[in-house]
Amino acid sequence: MIRKIVTYPDPVLTTPTQEVDVVDREIEKLVKDMFETMYDAEGVGLAANQIGVPIKVMVMDTTPKEDAPDLKLVLINPTIVHTEGKIKYKEGCLSFPGLSVEVERAKRIKVKALNEHGEPVELELEGFPAIVFQHELDHLQGITFIDRLKGWRRRLALEKYKKLQKRS
Ligand code: ZN
Repeated sequence: MIRKIVTYPDPVLTTPTQEVDVVDREIEKLVKDMFETMYDAEGVGLAANQIGVPIKVMVMDTTPKEDAPDLKLVLINPTIVHTEGKIKYKEGCLSFPGLSVEVERAKRIKVKALNEHGEPVELELEGFPAIVFQHELDHLQGITFIDRLKGWRRRLALEKYKKLQKRS
């Protein structure tokens, strides 16, 4: 089922989410909905609180093509255990329709999480998938990409977003 994507400044986006205790059928259903919602919105990643469910579940697919289904990732209670290097990228966010801002993040990361079966996994991500992961992990911690900007850059991004919202 395609769910409604919550947009900023809804408080569910700025509140840290809860850890998942058990990966059960309910989580399985949520994950299915998250993928459907993400593909429908042509996104590459989605955090559960972006559809109003405040728990630590994220999905991503940095190559949303039928011939590369193996890049679908479900990450539950994810954490970063190692970072290396820096990379700047102009990011978009499904919760800030129309806005894109340049954010600096780690270039290579090592992450730990549970997969959709509740099994522990460790992954190394680099470049675009690493960027997407860090963006979604921020969401789960109640942080949006404009919070990664400082001073006037943040103010400018917020003003631009307000104008975009008025137009739509
Ligand atoms: Zn986002």
